[in-house]
Amino acid sequence: MRIPFIVGNWKMNKTADEALQFIDDVSEHLPDPKKIQSAIAAPALFLQSMAQKAQDTPLDIIGENCFYEQFGAYTGETSPTALKKIGVPYVILGHSERRLYFHESDEMINKKVFAAIDAGLKPIVCCDETMGREAAGDTIHWVVSQIIADLRGLSDDQVGQISVAYEPSWAIGTGKSASADQAEEGCYLIRQTIADVYSDELADKIRVLYGGSVSPDNIDELMAKPNIDGVLVGNASLDAEAFIKLANFQI
Ligand code: PEP
Repeated sequence: MRIPFIVGNWKMNKTADEALQFIDDVSEHLPDPKKIQSAIAAPALFLQSMAQKAQDTPLDIIGENCFYEQFGAYTGETSPTALKKIGVPYVILGHSERRLYFHESDEMINKKVFAAIDAGLKPIVCCDETMGREAAGDTIHWVVSQIIADLRGLSDDQVGQISVAYEPSWAIGTGKSASADQAEEGCYLIRQTIADVYSDELADKIRVLYGGSVSPDNIDELMAKPNIDGVLVGNASLDAEAFIKLANFQI
């Protein structure tokens, strides 16, 4: 059984004080993690204090990114091992903003996936859909090739550690979510790709999330779809009340 996974992605928002206040505001209102798992991806700067504060709560504190080496002369980068050591269980990799503003290629993301797994982190690998459904007509090829490139060379065991997030870039931060049917189609496509490249068993095990303007208004409809196991949420996750509603979705 795939436990639903509700992941907030704060990006470069909030101060350390605000981040800790958020944990106070939400922690008593989150569901049992054995039934619905909730997590916040926060800036590296305050992951440690958040992870400590959230230790006995249902909330996981996770990384927004990490580097593809464990240690070394890489000024400004974040070590996967160091993340793991402060109690971070998951890390987002390949977010479309990393691809766009920091020029991360599939090759680099693939190296990061290996490094994160080596360090004991579970990667949430994002694949976007930069060209847009309306314009491209090539959506399927794009999403499939990204997933294949980002996961290239992983063993079955390693693939079993990941989740995938389907995030059409035209839906990220725009207030224009994909419809539940479009989101389901994208998530289904990713699951099928895992089944084709690996196995039906792995495809059945892996959680596939949808991301792009998810809010308390549309989460119920999205989570009702059979191939959507969770959501990756930017803007709406910044507000404690909205995050509580997202984590307590109803289907
Ligand atoms: C995201 O950053 O991954 C995202 C989906 O953002 P938003 O929910 O704001 O569209």
